[in-house]
Amino acid sequence: ENWGLGSWPRRRARIAPGDPAIVYEGQTWTYGQLDERVNRLANALIGLGVGARDRVGFLGPNHPAFVETMFATCAAGGVFVPLNVRLAAAELAEVVGEAEVAVLVVTPGLAPLAADLVERAPVRHVVVAGSEPVGDYAPLERLVAGGSAHPPHVPIGFDDIAMIMYTSGTTGQLKGVTLSHANLAWNVYNVMIDVDIARDEVSLINAPMFHTAALNQTFLPTFIKGGTAVLMSAFDPQQTLKLIAEYRVTWMFGVPTMFQALTQAPGWESADLSSIRALTAGGAPVPDTLIRTYQARGLTFMQGYGMTEASPGVLFLQARESQRKAGTAGTPCFFTDAEVVDHTGKPVPPGERGEIRCRGPHVMQGYWNKPDLTRSVLGEDGWLRSGDVAIQDEDGFFTIVDRVKDMFISGGENVYPAEIENALSGHPAVADCAVIGVPDQRWGEVGQVFVVLLPGRSLTFDDMVQYLQDRLARYKIPKSLTLVDGLPRSAAGKLLKKQLKNPRV
Ligand code: ATP
Ligand code: MG
Repeated sequence: ENWGLGSWPRRRARIAPGDPAIVYEGQTWTYGQLDERVNRLANALIGLGVGARDRVGFLGPNHPAFVETMFATCAAGGVFVPLNVRLAAAELAEVVGEAEVAVLVVTPGLAPLAADLVERAPVRHVVVAGSEPVGDYAPLERLVAGGSAHPPHVPIGFDDIAMIMYTSGTTGQLKGVTLSHANLAWNVYNVMIDVDIARDEVSLINAPMFHTAALNQTFLPTFIKGGTAVLMSAFDPQQTLKLIAEYRVTWMFGVPTMFQALTQAPGWESADLSSIRALTAGGAPVPDTLIRTYQARGLTFMQGYGMTEASPGVLFLQARESQRKAGTAGTPCFFTDAEVVDHTGKPVPPGERGEIRCRGPHVMQGYWNKPDLTRSVLGEDGWLRSGDVAIQDEDGFFTIVDRVKDMFISGGENVYPAEIENALSGHPAVADCAVIGVPDQRWGEVGQVFVVLLPGRSLTFDDMVQYLQDRLARYKIPKSLTLVDGLPRSAAGKLLKKQLKNPRV
C-alpha cells in the first residue's frame, strides 16, 4: 500500500475529480487532472531511474509544477527537496550536493542557475517546467506525456521520508530537516483541527512554497480537505488584494511583513476582503499594532508559531480566542505537547521566561546527515528544543519572546530585541525596525536600533527614547539609532540580523 503524500491526489480525485485543486495565472487544475498528471510524471521519474529514497529537487517560485513534482516524487517512492530560489549559486550547490539531488526540476527562468549547479553538484537529470526544452534539459510536459497514467506500484510506509526541507537559515547554517509522510500528515491534522479548514476553503498561497509555512501549513491542509489553492509566484501586495476579491479567498497565511505591506498598498482601504474567514500570521514576531490594524477592520487575525523541524505547527491561537488573547501565539496544537523550561530542562511556572520545547508525531526524524546536530536539539524522550524564549500565562497561552540567539545582555539584564521592536513599531513614524546588541565598554552590550521611516516622517534619537521610556524598562532602550532605507530580509520575510551585525557577510 501507499499511505504517503503521493497517494493524496488519487484519494482526492476519487471523491471529487472535477473540483478545482489549483488556480495559477487564471488557469485551473482539477483534482482529476492533477491526479493523472502526477501518475504520469511519477512513472516518468521512475523511468529516469528515480528509486526508493532518491532525491528529486524543485527549484522555482510557486508554480503548479512544484506541486506536481512533489506528489510525483512521493508516488515514485522518492524524497522531495524544495529549494530556495533566493540562495546564491554556491549555497544552492552545497544544499543540492549534501542532499544528493538526482533529478532537478526547474522553472524556465532558472535554467541558467541549474546549469551552474550541475557544474558543481552531481545532478543526473535536469527537467524544465513547460513544453519547451532548454538546451539539453527535457521539458516537463514531455515526461508527463510519456509516462503511464496508472499509479505506480511502489509500497510506501507512513514512516518513510517524504521530504527534506531546509530551514530558513536565519541564524546560521541551513539544516536539512527530514520529514516522514506521517510527520506531514499529523501536522496537517493539527491544522485541520486548529484552523478548522473547510471543504470549500480557498487559500491564497503567496509565501514561498519552498518554506514550511506555505507548503505544509497552508497548501497541504487545503489540499487534503479538497479546497482550492490559489498560487502566486511571488508576493505582491496589490496583486494579493486583487486575487482575494477575484477568487473570494477565505484564508491566507503570511509572515508579519506581508500583512504590513498589505496595509500600506494602494487600494487597501477600499479592498473587498468580505470573503476572508481568517488570516494567520507567523514565522516571526507579530507586532501588536499589526494585529490591531486587522482586527479594527473586522477580520479574524490568528497567530501561529512553529519551526521547520516540527513540520511546522507547534502553537496556534484559535479564532475563538483571537480577540481575548491577541498578541499570544495561543496554545499547543491538538496533537502537540509544548512547555517552557529552564536551562536544566525543568518546566518553569507561568509568567516566567524559558525555552519552549515541543513533542508530537509531527516532529522531524532529524537533520539530514547531521546526527550530532540532531542530538543537540532532539532528545531521546522526543522533546524538540526550539531555541526560542517564551512565557506561558495562567490560562496556558504562550507568548513568544524572541530567539535565544538574538538576546543580548546589557548591564547584567537579558534584553530581547523583539520586545523593543514590538514597542517601537507602534510609533507613527516607523514603517519597520530592527534591534541588535552591540559591544559597549560600560554595559557589556547595548541595543542599536535600525529604523525605516514611513514616507514624509522623521524620528530623532530623543523622540525614540521618549516614546520607549513609557513602554519599556530603561535598560532595554537602545543607545543608538540608525535610519535606513530598508532592512535585510530573507525569502521567508525574516530579519537577517547576522547581516545587520556584520554588514559584509
Ligand atoms: P534557521 O533555523 O535556519 O536559523 P529559522 O529558524 O528562521 O532558520 P524556520 O524553521 O523557518 O527557520 O523558522 C522557525 C523560527 O521562526 C522559530 O524558531 C521562531 O524563531 C520563528 N517564529 C515562528 N513563528 C513565530 C511567531 N509566531 N512569533 C515569533 N517567532 C516565530
Ligand atoms: Mg530555526
